[in-house]
Amino acid sequence: MATSPSKKEFQIGWICALPVEAAAAIQMLDENFGILQEQERSDTNTYTLGRIGRHHVVIACLPDGQYGTTSATAVSNNMIRTFADSLRIGLMVGIGGGAPSADHDIRLGDVVVSRPEGSYGGVIQHDMIKIKKDGEVQRVGSLNSPPKPLLNALAQIRAAELYDDPQYPVYIQGAIEKNKRTRKTFSRPNIKSDRLFKAEHGHRGSATSCDQCPVEWEEDRIPREDGDPHTHYGTIASGNTLVKDGTIREALRKETGALCFEMEGAGLMVDFPCLVIRGICDYADSHKNKLWQGYAALTAAAFTKELLSYVPKGVSYESLVADICPLLEDIKEEQRKAFNQQEYHHQQKMARILTEDQRRCHQAFKTSTYEKFKNINPSRVEGTCEWVLNSPEYLRWWNATSNDLLWISADPGCGKSVLAKSLIDGVFPASDSNISIMYFFFKDNDEQNNLATALCAVLHQLFSLQPQLL
Ligand SMILES: [Zn+2]
Repeated sequence: MATSPSKKEFQIGWICALPVEAAAAIQMLDENFGILQEQERSDTNTYTLGRIGRHHVVIACLPDGQYGTTSATAVSNNMIRTFADSLRIGLMVGIGGGAPSADHDIRLGDVVVSRPEGSYGGVIQHDMIKIKKDGEVQRVGSLNSPPKPLLNALAQIRAAELYDDPQYPVYIQGAIEKNKRTRKTFSRPNIKSDRLFKAEHGHRGSATSCDQCPVEWEEDRIPREDGDPHTHYGTIASGNTLVKDGTIREALRKETGALCFEMEGAGLMVDFPCLVIRGICDYADSHKNKLWQGYAALTAAAFTKELLSYVPKGVSYESLVADICPLLEDIKEEQRKAFNQQEYHHQQKMARILTEDQRRCHQAFKTSTYEKFKNINPSRVEGTCEWVLNSPEYLRWWNATSNDLLWISADPGCGKSVLAKSLIDGVFPASDSNISIMYFFFKDNDEQNNLATALCAVLHQLFSLQPQLL
């Protein structure tokens, strides 16, 4: 195995959720430097280091059995911290459920790439979309755009598709043919197992296969002439709940135009601007089909490899990911470690003790991106905001034994948001790990200016910190 270059050479972060996705990513390496040997103890990720073309790439996978936006946020935060001096570009690569339509003839094994469209930044969090009783869908938030070098690369690869044969089918074939195991894991299943059922026909009974689901339920589709996966560019819908119902998929698709449903992208986009690339392994409905996961993971990875060939080496003119990640700014190193560790233990605890119903209930309170309205505020300048810790109002609140509220109000522009943020991120976590701090930053926009949103945000945090209350 080749010797790994220094940690400072790794500019591309590649995150996967499942072991099969990480295995597909590793197949794309031109050189494999093995796993990172030295890292902080508080960073629980395992990193595989490698080279793809001219880029040094670090691959991390979510802990086994933990999916969803929160786990993805924890993994990406660790990665950003450990590779703070070099990381510039993030990629979330794996499998997802396709949402075909008259405009997008999506088949199993195809690749969907997040691309900003209209008011969406490429990825939307579908947990934040409410389906009203009459079936109408209401959208309450969307997330950041991918970083610019990746958007430029996307434009170039799309132009190249018009006059040149793509390379990724070659990468796919190469990875499948490597040995007996890769053939078993990644080979393309028989095309007859790609069955798209009409949304209104749910899976029949508890059968583990669709043998009993009649052919008449299927949508009419013209067989494709070529066997290569096609690529689709547009909105990807992400959330902590898995969409596995054709009618829900259709309602969300019609409202958002989403081409694909998955479970992690939104957790990254808040703090780690990245591109999401998904190989389609099913149709986000109740029908059973696990056959395509390996091949779909591989098609997404192969497309990603080709995309990287359009990204220039040394994107040094772009901001470092750590610099544009507001969560990590100006939290002193020790506090930051404690904070991350606390977060991680918390998620472990939540994952262990919550039933599926409790998780759904908890998620129901996540009606806004309330964290964003704290994180977008600049951090305090050294020496400022400290006066508040000695003010009588603050001391009275801090020492109170009854339930009490710290209300911070001032004229616009006085710095109350900066002050509140420094308390929440810096002072409180360092003072006492046994207290539960909830916050809500009011903003005069549709998302953040009403009492219901504020209460939901506070309850969401309370249940996160004290899950036994659920
Ligand atoms: Zn079925």
